[in-house]
Amino acid sequence: MDTLIKKMQEWGTRQAVVLADANVAALYPHFFDALSDHFTCRTITIPGSESSKTIEQAVQVWQQLQAWQMERNDTLIMFGGGMVCDLGGFVAATYKRGIHGVYCPTTLLSMIDAAYGGKTAVNLHHVKNCIGVVRQPDHVMPANTTFLQTLPMAELKSGFGEMIKYALIASPLLLKQINDLEVLTPESVSPLWIQECVRIKENVVRKDPNDHHERHVLNFGHTIGHAIEGYYAASGRGVPHGVAVAAGLLYESLLSEKLTGLPHNEFLMIENLIQRHFKVKPFSKKKWNVLLPYLIQDKKNKDGRINFTLLKGIGSPVTDVLVQDYPF
Ligand code: NAD
Repeated sequence: MDTLIKKMQEWGTRQAVVLADANVAALYPHFFDALSDHFTCRTITIPGSESSKTIEQAVQVWQQLQAWQMERNDTLIMFGGGMVCDLGGFVAATYKRGIHGVYCPTTLLSMIDAAYGGKTAVNLHHVKNCIGVVRQPDHVMPANTTFLQTLPMAELKSGFGEMIKYALIASPLLLKQINDLEVLTPESVSPLWIQECVRIKENVVRKDPNDHHERHVLNFGHTIGHAIEGYYAASGRGVPHGVAVAAGLLYESLLSEKLTGLPHNEFLMIENLIQRHFKVKPFSKKKWNVLLPYLIQDKKNKDGRINFTLLKGIGSPVTDVLVQDYPF
């Protein structure tokens, strides 16, 4: 907290607003109390659900910031998981063309992924992350794994799905370590694993902050994963992001074996790891057809073809593999 206070003083912040996920605010109501000794500090709470990631919710937050006369030097602190980071990052990037944005990630997924890289967004008509800007946060508070103690198991698994992605695209050592894990618990998540994922993401983002090419490696598992999320959202049911990504990782590994030469023994290892933690149903033509309306909306698509990031092998991603018809 001292580092944050020091930075906010350097920025000339007078007013701090904590944009908090309501579930997180209820569990940790005093987490930011120390800020009140230095700044005028207020809190906005929003429902802790993906359905809050909308332009309507952003408008409400903009209006509240305006009512409180937030200025360009002031700071908006996102307190929650990836939903709050994405929505609040978008609000901070756009309000008065940008106020200071700080992330305090409270889910495993946001600690390893959503709080880094500067992608902010809201959803539009169930199309994920349709409206947004890229803008790096001014500060990310270091992962505090005690938050994981209160995280629902489904959300812990969700972050673990994303962690598997990082291991698959860039860290055979991390993959070995997480593959040795029998049962996922909050205590079993090593801070070193979190640091490794952050290192990988920052490394990729440094080379390609605006997502023109290198950054596409981060999309492994996400083409099908996002389509699954879109499908569930449209049918009124939610699915945690990383759980959808875990299914996407398995299906896109199968596709990698078919299209980009992922060795069969590596595919089997990936399948075993994912099925041990997530019960993923087999892929089928029917599933492809159900997901197709969402796949064709994907932002990465080119010339009407669906754009996948696949694997040549563990640790060797291939970007921009374009697919037109049912590929399995
Ligand atoms: P989330 O923010 O939706 O939170 C999941 C649930 O956990 C919510 O109900 C929340 O209230 C609750 N919660 C959060 N922290 C808690 C805690 N410590 N204890 C108890 N409950 C807690 O989920 P998420 O998985 O962190 O984020 C998903 C979002 O992140 C999606 O919208 C996704 O698109 C986005 N995302 C963004 C990026 C990026 O680079 N910007 C990357 C990955 C995902």
